[in-house]
Amino acid sequence: MTTTKKVLVINTGSSSIKYQLFDMPAGRVLCAGLVERIGETSGTITHTVYPGTKNEKKVSEKVEKVSHTDGMHRIATLLVAKEWGVLHSVTEVALVGHRVVHGGEAFSDTLEITPQVKEKIRELIPLAPLHNPANLTGIEIAENLFSEATQVAVFDTAFHQSLPPKAYRYAIPNSLYTQHGIRVYGFHGTSHKYIATQTAKLLGKPQEATSLISIHLGNGASMAAIKNGQSIDTSLGLTPLPGLVMGTRSGDIDPGVVFYLSETLGYSLKEIKRLLNKQSGLKGLANDNDMRDITQRAQQGEEEAQLALEVYTYRIQKYIGAYLVALGQTPDALVFTAGVGENSAVVRSMCLQNMQHVGIQLNPTLNEQGKGMRLISAPDSIPVWVIPTNEELEIAQQAFGLPVS
Ligand code: ADP
Repeated sequence: MTTTKKVLVINTGSSSIKYQLFDMPAGRVLCAGLVERIGETSGTITHTVYPGTKNEKKVSEKVEKVSHTDGMHRIATLLVAKEWGVLHSVTEVALVGHRVVHGGEAFSDTLEITPQVKEKIRELIPLAPLHNPANLTGIEIAENLFSEATQVAVFDTAFHQSLPPKAYRYAIPNSLYTQHGIRVYGFHGTSHKYIATQTAKLLGKPQEATSLISIHLGNGASMAAIKNGQSIDTSLGLTPLPGLVMGTRSGDIDPGVVFYLSETLGYSLKEIKRLLNKQSGLKGLANDNDMRDITQRAQQGEEEAQLALEVYTYRIQKYIGAYLVALGQTPDALVFTAGVGENSAVVRSMCLQNMQHVGIQLNPTLNEQGKGMRLISAPDSIPVWVIPTNEELEIAQQAFGLPVS
C-alpha cells in the first residue's frame, strides 16, 4: 500500500510567494494561495481551501509591509487555522517542494536540499540575480517553519540539461563558456516536462519513446523540442529573454540593437535591460501584455493589435519549423499550453496556418471548442493537443517521487 504524504509546493519570487498543499499521490489540492507585494507598504494574502470543489472557501487579507518571513509565517498559520486550516499541525507536511529558477549545469534533477545544495544555488546567483536569492530565502524560512519536512529543490532549468552542445553553445569565444558558464540553459523546464509526461500518457507510449514540440505561451513563453522524452532544444537561453515574443519581453532580437540603443540613442545599460524585459514583446508592439485584449482589439480591426498578433505567431511558426527539423522525425504531437496556449483559439489558429505542407492542420471547430485536455487537429495532421500545464503538481510529484534518504 502506498503511504500518502502532504507535500507543500512553494514558489518564492522577489515580491511574492505562491503555494499549494497537495495530498499525494492522489494529487488533490488541499489549499492554495498567494502572498503578493512583499516589501511594499501594503501586501495581500489570498488563501483558498479545497479549490475547485464544492467545499471551496477563500479568504483574502491585507497586511502592512509584509516580508518573506511574515508571508511564510502567515501561510504556516493558515494551514492549521481553525476556520481555514486543512491540517492539525504543520508537522503533517512531509515534503516541501521549492521551485528554484536556475540550476546551471550543476543540477539536472530534482534533489533533497542539503547545505551543499544551498551553497551551489548561492553560487549560481550571478546567472539569476533576481530569482535565486528569493528562492534561497524561501528555502531557509521553510527549513525553520517545517523543520520536520524534507526540503526538495525542483529546478526550472533541469529538464533542459539534456540539450546537446550544438544546441546549448553560443558562437562566442570558448572561454566565456568554459570560465563563465555562458550558454543556453532554458527555463519553464517543469512545465515542458509535465507536458511531455502527459503527452506520453495520452498516447499510451513510454515517455522515452515520445517526441513532441511543447509550446508554452504564458506571460513568459518558450518552446521545447522533446525527442524520446528528452529536451533537445529550447527557445529561452542564458536568461529568460530570447526566443518567442512574450508579454513584456522582446524574445529574439539582433544583439546589435543593444549597441545602437547605447551608442546612437544614448540609453544606459539599465534602461536597455528594462526596455527589453519590461517594455517590449506584446507590450512594446501593442501597448498591452494581455492577449485577451489584444485579440479583441485585432478582431475590431485595429492594425497595431493585428500586427502584434502577426509578429507573435510568426515567431512561433519559425520555431515550429526549426524544431520539426531538429527532431529529425515526425513528432507524436504538437502541444499548446499555459494561459495563451490553453485559451486562445485565434493564436493557435494563426500559429498553425499554412502548415499543411509539413503535415500540420487544425480542425477549426475543435480548435474553437472545449476546455481542458483536447485534440484540435484534422484527422490527417500531426496530432495537435491543448494540455493545461500544472507546474505545481509536477513539483509535488517530483518531490513525492524522490527516494527517501
Ligand atoms: P504566467 O504563469 O506566465 O504568468 P499564464 O500561463 O497564467 O502566465 O498566462 C497569462 C496570460 O494568458 C495572460 O497574459 C493572458 O493574456 C493570457 N490569457 C488568459 N486567458 C486568455 C484567453 N481566454 N484568451 C487569450 N489569452 C488569455
